[in-house]
Amino acid sequence: MILILKPDTTTDSEAFLALTAFLEKLPNIRHRIHQETGTQQLLTEVYLVGDTAALTLEEMQNLPGVERVVRVSEEYRVLGRHKDDRRPTWFDYNGVRFGQDTLHVFAGLCAVNTREHVEAMMKALQENGQVCTRMGAYKPRTSPYSFQGHGKSCLPYVFELAGKYGIKVIAMEITHEDHVDEITEALEQTGNPTGVMLQIGTRNTQNFELLKSVGRQHRFPVLLKRGFGITLEESLNAAEYLASEGNRNVVFCLRGMKSNMGDPHRNFVDFAHVPVVKRLTRMPVSVDPSHSVGSRDKAPDGILDTMHVAAQGVVAGANMILVDFHPDPASALVDGPQALTLDELPWFLDDVQIAREAYLKRQERAAAEAT
Ligand code: PEP
Ligand code: MN
Repeated sequence: MILILKPDTTTDSEAFLALTAFLEKLPNIRHRIHQETGTQQLLTEVYLVGDTAALTLEEMQNLPGVERVVRVSEEYRVLGRHKDDRRPTWFDYNGVRFGQDTLHVFAGLCAVNTREHVEAMMKALQENGQVCTRMGAYKPRTSPYSFQGHGKSCLPYVFELAGKYGIKVIAMEITHEDHVDEITEALEQTGNPTGVMLQIGTRNTQNFELLKSVGRQHRFPVLLKRGFGITLEESLNAAEYLASEGNRNVVFCLRGMKSNMGDPHRNFVDFAHVPVVKRLTRMPVSVDPSHSVGSRDKAPDGILDTMHVAAQGVVAGANMILVDFHPDPASALVDGPQALTLDELPWFLDDVQIAREAYLKRQERAAAEAT
């Protein structure tokens, strides 16, 4: 059960103290406080765990400071979409809103290789009106002999260049909790010119200790990739690990499933799950067409498979697209064969826009049906 408190109820207010004193006396019930400081107001929610079946909604509704009560199902307590649950399906980060209604493209380098390539990428993004990108500094590789990413050494120039070209959010994979400190330090050192969305990759979806530590920090939002060989439910529970530790600014990313059934694509594209994740949870949903498809193959219609699947995700309501681009794919240190080129960026963005318009029309048509 969740008690949603009246806005701006502080933990030293009379109402709050009376409420917690009451909750402490309830047998077999523990409570946990979640606070969110928005631009407009402070929101406080109290999560009750244990024998809550014995409590009635009316009784809880009348407690001091309580605005609304939501009875949650067992699953995805924090991030789930529960009955009569009107909590927000969005969050704001560094001036950008991420919600179940918004759409942002994160085109960028799978792995940072040179400063020149980072600059060329960011310049192209700015020229095309983009404020988000992806930049891999820590790369989890199948072979220990493959390039592992430049790590913290590239962060200062990546962040400085992001600031120079007006990039507000960089999706950046981390594979260890120390990377969060390295990113924080580099941001401080460069004067916080940009923001970072911490990406947890498909190989770490169920790295519970990493999830817990990233969940405990509130500075950065998190992009959690679906695990490539586990069920959707298991991956959504992984997202709940982040939220249960306190960070609910989570975007969930579909990136295809490992299965030869998906051949010749690198992974079996699972973008039909976009609306499913939006139904089950309040998270914005991202798709990653590059790691799903893994090539630059083209259909007879002249459209790259990567663009076809990105459009499928968008037409199904995706809120974010994580996509590999590279100024010179032949010299990319990771995943060059799937990267789109900078001169393909306007085409890609137009194709996304066409799919987005189709989605908005579909949504309007559905709304007409509901009235
Ligand atoms: C990536 O986005 O760079 C990546 C490694 O993706 P995934 O974790 O989905 O394989
Ligand atoms: Mn990659």
